[in-house]
Amino acid sequence: MSKLTSAQIEQLARQMDERWAREIEEIRRVAERARDERAQEALAGRAADRLDQALADIAASADYAIVRQDIEDVRDIVAARKRIAAGTYGICTDCGGDIGYERLRAYPTAKRCIECQRGDERRRRVHA
Ligand SMILES: [Zn+2]
Repeated sequence: MSKLTSAQIEQLARQMDERWAREIEEIRRVAERARDERAQEALAGRAADRLDQALADIAASADYAIVRQDIEDVRDIVAARKRIAAGTYGICTDCGGDIGYERLRAYPTAKRCIECQRGDERRRRVHA
């Protein structure tokens, strides 16, 4: 369990829900324009697994290039909701340490603590 209180988790979940609503709306607008009925249907529901699959599909489609960042953000929120449900939210996926409330307030979908995030970015730069 992380050291977050349930009130803190609720606060962060609310923050993510607001972002989710805004971004889903933008993605839905593109889906409407593209007359992509399957995506529109998936975006209207809140079944996380189905939505995540639909988002993976539309992320690969050129029609959605303009909202690619929104799609990434929503997928990150889907993953964060799963971690909340599993009781692992706020725990670093790399070292198992606490991510910390302050970092999560700035970046609610963070899955790594700041030290591991920096290490990950360094490794990516080395491999890039
Ligand atoms: Zn860590």
